[in-house]
Amino acid sequence: MEAKTVAKGTAMFKNGLKLQWLGHAAFKITTPGGKVIYIDPWLDNPSAPQDAKQVDRADIIIVTHGHFDHIGNTVDIAKSTNAKVISNFEVSLFLKSKGVPENNLIGINTSGSVEVEGIKMTMVYADHSSGITDGDLVINGGTAAGFVIRLENGYTLYDTGDTGIFSDMRLIAKLYKPRTVMLCIGGFYTMGPFEAAEAVKMLKPNVVVPMHYGTFPILSGTPEALRKLIPRSVKTKVAAPKPGEILE
Ligand SMILES: [Zn+2]
Repeated sequence: MEAKTVAKGTAMFKNGLKLQWLGHAAFKITTPGGKVIYIDPWLDNPSAPQDAKQVDRADIIIVTHGHFDHIGNTVDIAKSTNAKVISNFEVSLFLKSKGVPENNLIGINTSGSVEVEGIKMTMVYADHSSGITDGDLVINGGTAAGFVIRLENGYTLYDTGDTGIFSDMRLIAKLYKPRTVMLCIGGFYTMGPFEAAEAVKMLKPNVVVPMHYGTFPILSGTPEALRKLIPRSVKTKVAAPKPGEILE
């Protein structure tokens, strides 16, 4: 009863989209129009490929919430690339306090959308927390979120961010029709495979890319466990690239 498995290196997107997993919750998307989007760029996470921190270009950085493993290297990348940074309002204020140019910060909130360089990003619900660690302090980081990303050609991805399962994933599927979903599966801080399989049933994307697993032993959910829990009647493919691998 396993869902279809995509062999590594298999062509997955017909439109020039490249999706690279950089370990943990970090992704680099190269859009069909050549724009570069980083999501939750913790580029020195324990699973990250060695060259992950060589960022030559970033047009957009999306930060799903305030936890250190999601803000990651955002401040450095934003300063060196002049990328626009999309996050919730409180995280954007924090990034401003750390020297990211105010003109490049776009702080929105749930169901809010912003379009940058022809790419539309919508902040959607996530069931999670968002406190920002700054030295010994924990700062209010607003509300954790997922992001729906509509590329120049209309192709739509959904990064769940860190979240527990929630039934309004059906609403996200209905409104935005994401074809690829980056889905947290590690457990402990987020959904594990048991809940993530239910999320797949609600979202029914073409492709799921598991994330937020394997970084630490405690994030013990695996793509194999997820595959076994997705009924064959659901046609979603589980693509599980190794950190650094590119789906294209
Ligand atoms: Zn988190």
